[in-house]
Amino acid sequence: MAEANQVDRKRVLITGGAGFLGSHLCERFLAEGWEVICMDNLLTGDISNVEHLFADKYFHFEHRDVTEYIHVGGRLDAILHFASPASPIDYLELPIQTLKVGSLGTHKVLGLARAKGARFLLASTSECYGDPLVHPQPESYWGNVNPVGPRGVYDEAKRFAEAMTMAYHRFHGIETRIVRIFNTYGPRMRLKDGRALPAFMSQALEGDPITVFGDGSQTRSFCYVDDLVEGIYRLLHSEEVEPVNIGNPSEMTILDFAKKIVELTGSRSEITFEALPEDDPKVRQPDITKAKERLGWEPKVDLETGLRRTFEYFQARLSAG
Ligand code: UDP
Repeated sequence: MAEANQVDRKRVLITGGAGFLGSHLCERFLAEGWEVICMDNLLTGDISNVEHLFADKYFHFEHRDVTEYIHVGGRLDAILHFASPASPIDYLELPIQTLKVGSLGTHKVLGLARAKGARFLLASTSECYGDPLVHPQPESYWGNVNPVGPRGVYDEAKRFAEAMTMAYHRFHGIETRIVRIFNTYGPRMRLKDGRALPAFMSQALEGDPITVFGDGSQTRSFCYVDDLVEGIYRLLHSEEVEPVNIGNPSEMTILDFAKKIVELTGSRSEITFEALPEDDPKVRQPDITKAKERLGWEPKVDLETGLRRTFEYFQARLSAG
């Protein structure tokens, strides 16, 4: 861990810091010797994700909604804007909040970055590509998004957030970075957040039917959280202003993913098929050429290893009730 005294210790604000990704980022920045201000309204974040950090004197928690005026005292060197509902069932249940945090929230946080002269990093998403007509997806692809469909609230909020970020960069000259995050998994995902991995793992562990949507032929590419955090850390420190995909290109069908989880958990659960949600993307795989070339980054954790670590976490959570 890098040593730093109070004067030269860098300070980062992480919005959505009590969420799945935010909490891993809080840990990483503390380990790198930063002072971390974690801001979260706990709508989908969970205080238990960061409770273990409260003993660290360089960790601070602010229970705030970033769509309201936000104030942070003192210097800020960087801001990572991760606040947003992020699983399809969350943003379908919270459509207005999802649109607000992507638009008003991004505007407030960019205003704070400007006032502090802080470098700003936006958590964007592969959902910007919608149901893609180009495969795999490079950053240069503009996407195929249905703005008025149920997923549009998330996709368009993030697309707006990217446009707002670039406008602040071009008009106000602030330093900005944009990461397009592909499906990521690991400890601290919520058991009931409705995404494929937590759904399949909790169903497998409880012996319930595994609910594959559609015929399971749609594809996703799953990245372990530690790899994602490394990519984000490198992106923040790079000079790359245009969006960068961070994800694991190893693509598989959702049916194969379900089978893998049944096998790994040794579960006797049967696979059942349910209706495919509206506008569910048929394929998704990141083109990570840019991240490789500009950040020297590529994923290191294979699916077996990542799933095993995540399984241990879910087992512990379920046995703790
Ligand atoms: N999915 C599924 N069963 C579930 C949850 C999700 O078959 O219980 C499918 C979903 O329809 C999608 C894929 O798994 O095709 C990934 O869904 P997730 O919600 O994890 O993320 P997305 O990539 O759609 O944002």
